[in-house]
Amino acid sequence: MKYIAGIDIGGTTIKLGLFTPYGMLIGTDSVPTDISDKGSGIIRDAAYGLKMLADASLVALEDIGGVGIGVPGPVRADGLVNGCVNLGWGLTDAAGEFSRMSGLPARAINDANAAALGETWRGSAAGAANAFFVTLGTGVGGAFVSEGKVITGTNGAGGEIGHITVNRAETAYCSCGKRGCLEQYVSATGIIKAVRSALDKGEPSSLSGLDEITGRDVFNAAKNGDAVCLKAVDNACGILGEALAMTACIVDPDIFIIGGGLSGAGDFLIDKVTASYKKAVMYPCADTPIVAASLGNEAGMYGAAAQWL
Ligand SMILES: [Zn+2]
Repeated sequence: MKYIAGIDIGGTTIKLGLFTPYGMLIGTDSVPTDISDKGSGIIRDAAYGLKMLADASLVALEDIGGVGIGVPGPVRADGLVNGCVNLGWGLTDAAGEFSRMSGLPARAINDANAAALGETWRGSAAGAANAFFVTLGTGVGGAFVSEGKVITGTNGAGGEIGHITVNRAETAYCSCGKRGCLEQYVSATGIIKAVRSALDKGEPSSLSGLDEITGRDVFNAAKNGDAVCLKAVDNACGILGEALAMTACIVDPDIFIIGGGLSGAGDFLIDKVTASYKKAVMYPCADTPIVAASLGNEAGMYGAAAQWL
């Protein structure tokens, strides 16, 4: 039996995890991400970090059968990382470089796809054959995992639910260059924007007068009955539930998982999304569960390793 390793390279921290092939985490560590000199030392630091972790876990390096490397950028079909703005990387052969430094086989994966794979391996969707994962953060990401593989499609856009059009009348542009994308209303950014616009109109709210508003503030105020925040949250959950209902018509997963920062709102969010989903969905998929993610910020580390199962 060989061990497998998952490395999640983020803008501030590199997380490392060593697993048995059955998914037991036997050791974990993290090192800071050094983005100086265009991030040229990141892979070296990751390789050294894994060596230290293996030593501390009493695992010989040659007993690691594969290493997954999650990166905050797109990964091409040929395995090359097609730029990571947060790390200062252009086109980078992260896996090849890691292999040369460590002597271990390595594979790169986009971090959102890794999180989806992680939740399907050991998180909320463990055991599901087909799972659809949505990340709610400053943006909205999505990924479809089928039989242990992320289905990214011909152009790598498979599962990108954040950029389906939900409002043809929108005049503001989305980060992708289109107008009326789901992300513009359902992301933390979009929900905060809706609250801000109501506050600017003078609608009474417990968040009036705050300089900075977070997604968590909006959800907490909504839970306490704040009408402005409740309206913004209801609108976002309504749109997301309908989008999941459309998704069910296309890929009909066993389960939907909602992760990312906003998923911390728990049942308050899940119940609203589920109510909207049930109203919009085609009847064969009416009972598909919608659940919150459970691995938190370790999901990417799990999923990077799960590429080697
Ligand atoms: Zn968009």
